[in-house]
Amino acid sequence: MITEEKILQIFIQSGALLNGHFLLTSGRHSNQYFQCAKVLQYPDLTYQVCLPLVEYFKEFDFDCVVSPAMGGIIVGYEIARQLSKKSIFTERENNLMTLRRGFSLSEDEKVLICEDVVTTGGSVFEVIDVVKNFGAKIVGVAALVDRSNGKVDFGYPFKSSLKLDAISFTADQCPLCKENKLPLIKPGSRKIE
Ligand code: ZN
Repeated sequence: MITEEKILQIFIQSGALLNGHFLLTSGRHSNQYFQCAKVLQYPDLTYQVCLPLVEYFKEFDFDCVVSPAMGGIIVGYEIARQLSKKSIFTERENNLMTLRRGFSLSEDEKVLICEDVVTTGGSVFEVIDVVKNFGAKIVGVAALVDRSNGKVDFGYPFKSSLKLDAISFTADQCPLCKENKLPLIKPGSRKIE
């Protein structure tokens, strides 16, 4: 069985988890920046980081994985592949989460919802509504990384491969600014590439 330590290593090695001094889109500062897509670009690593989710949900009775685009698609697909299930995804149309592309669910289908990263859980709650509107049954929620700091409750069994608390500060309270050793980096800018 793959350990949480090994999973953390994979995220660091692939550049998905960076340590430093970062300006987040919220305007807050953090000592960590997480970009899940960096690990999902490697299928062999994606296989490994999905193992705890596959292990946990393999005893559950379900037919179909549903994931929110974009982030959840690869995670959902990989879990479905390992467990020989169907995999579909939701996406926003006029800002409303929905199934497109001829995807559908029937009332007797049992669904596992999959996501890459859960912070507030917003996208997952939207997928829950989509699945319920089809009358299908939800058996659980799987996420590669739980960044909710233990605050999210979907009302279904929830399993993550890694719990990674999100810690951030307002600019005037940032300890890294006070230390003045590490330059503040805006993720996505060239400095970080
Ligand atoms: Zn700072």
